[in-house]
Amino acid sequence: MNMITNHPPTAELQAIDAAHHMHPFTAGAELAQKGARIIKSAKGLTLTDTEGHQILDAMAGLWCVNIGYGWDSIADVAARQMKELPYYNTFFQTSHVPVIALSQKLAEMAPGDLNHVFYASGGSDANDTNVRLVRHYWAAKGKPEKKVIISRENAYHGSTMAGASLGGMQPMHAQGGLPIADIVHIGQPNWYAEGGEMTPEEFGLARARELEAKIAELGEDKVAAFIAEPIQGAGGVIIPPATYWPEIQRICDAHEILLIADEVICGFGRTGKMFGSETYDIRPHIMTVAKGLSSGYAPIGASIVCDEVANTVAEAGDFNHGYTYSGHPVSCAVALENLRILEEEQMVENVASVTGPYLKEKWEQLADHPLIGEAQIQGFMASVAMTPDKAARAPFAADKGTVGLICRGHCFDNNLIMRHVGDRMIIAPPLLMTRADVDSLMDRAVKALDLTLAEIRDKGLYA
Ligand SMILES: *Cc1c(COP(=O)(O)O)cnc(C)c1O
Repeated sequence: MNMITNHPPTAELQAIDAAHHMHPFTAGAELAQKGARIIKSAKGLTLTDTEGHQILDAMAGLWCVNIGYGWDSIADVAARQMKELPYYNTFFQTSHVPVIALSQKLAEMAPGDLNHVFYASGGSDANDTNVRLVRHYWAAKGKPEKKVIISRENAYHGSTMAGASLGGMQPMHAQGGLPIADIVHIGQPNWYAEGGEMTPEEFGLARARELEAKIAELGEDKVAAFIAEPIQGAGGVIIPPATYWPEIQRICDAHEILLIADEVICGFGRTGKMFGSETYDIRPHIMTVAKGLSSGYAPIGASIVCDEVANTVAEAGDFNHGYTYSGHPVSCAVALENLRILEEEQMVENVASVTGPYLKEKWEQLADHPLIGEAQIQGFMASVAMTPDKAARAPFAADKGTVGLICRGHCFDNNLIMRHVGDRMIIAPPLLMTRADVDSLMDRAVKALDLTLAEIRDKGLYA
């Protein structure tokens, strides 16, 4: 019997899953007790689980299903490519048509002179490539000591050794001996949590200037690059104050270091322009992309590299780096079809000027809810910070994440996927939402917040 087309009932699947499948970012013992929610199919914005629940996926999977679920033409393209050429590599002077076509397309889409693409299977390994690439670049320029990479606390750049080291997540650094050498972190532009008495504008400048101070402390001749997400995603959708990015750009221009924009979430329309770098006027030397590049229909990531870096590396001989699946033909074909749909259906315009402004209006009204201290939104990524004391932007007395987890439970119970990061709730829905979808999302979100407030009052946690 084929277990995929004719599977056993949910409880049995859950038991097999817990017995044999090690899940990422999941406590195994708790999973064994509660069982995983098992998703069976999806269409548009809606997931269906094995119990028949219809769930509104306001996280687009893991921030990746930008065009939404269920586009048959992508399945057709993948099937055709698998029949024609399921695999060939791009090492040792070989290439194939899908990787050539996608590279041309990305060079055309990416801003400035970001004209060269190095492929990975996702965002983490693309960032591993970036670490090696920028250090190799400086070595090729005769400056092998320029190898420190500056990142930020609470950043997310993936889960590999280099990706998690670039990231600024304490719980990740606490496992497996991270960060690796020559990666350092400065503060994040999270005004709500860390801005104290400063205005957001003052705080944005202060946090940006930590970069200049760190370069001075280490010595410009030791620093290879600065990496940052235009908007911190997994850190809780932290939208920086308006003063932050212009000052970062000024500092990068004033010093001889490379700027890497990690566009894995922001890229491909999420912020209302094709790339977050365009929304914030950032001029990176390298952009990391993944997630929305294929809308998650096939695994693929990439570093999109500027002329100067790519040409220097090209002239320096072999770059001794690459993945078996760098430029996988099926993933490239899928990505191209995904980008065709994204453009033809004008999804970025939908975010910028059709549904986006409506979502913004509704989302910002959440700031009036008694539980909400801040509601932030840019394009189709948004967050609210829950608090027992709005004026003081105070955290809860309970352990961080206690209230967030309660709220996530009420979202689940109301067939809404909203994620919690500590006591912030976040969304990053597919880009094809309509106004009616926004209404349904907001109804469920408000209901979940009301139920959360009632529960934490009952339990004495609203303090
Ligand atoms: C998800 C993510 C990554 C890691 O991508 P994977 O495909 O999971 O390896 C890197 N950077 C950012 C900003 C991300 O959100």
